[in-house]
Amino acid sequence: MVTQCSNPECRKPLTHLNNGRVIRTVQHQGAVPVIQHYWLCGECYLRHDFSISVADIVSCIRRELPQGMPKKHISGPGFAA
Ligand SMILES: [Zn+2]
Repeated sequence: MVTQCSNPECRKPLTHLNNGRVIRTVQHQGAVPVIQHYWLCGECYLRHDFSISVADIVSCIRRELPQGMPKKHISGPGFAA
């Protein structure tokens, strides 16, 4: 269960879901599906979004950089699957 903003620079506690973004990932450990949720609060979602790698690792990325610039990835302990 998600309890806080997934941006490691924020970590605002989740009290309601009236803004921001929630994603759900489903990974399989054998035949057992493991469902995880990630949330960006409304303030963080203005400048960040989620990125999911081919290894299904969820990261928070800044999305305010000019086009053509490499995106800066922010990873935190809460993102590892
Ligand atoms: Zn936040």
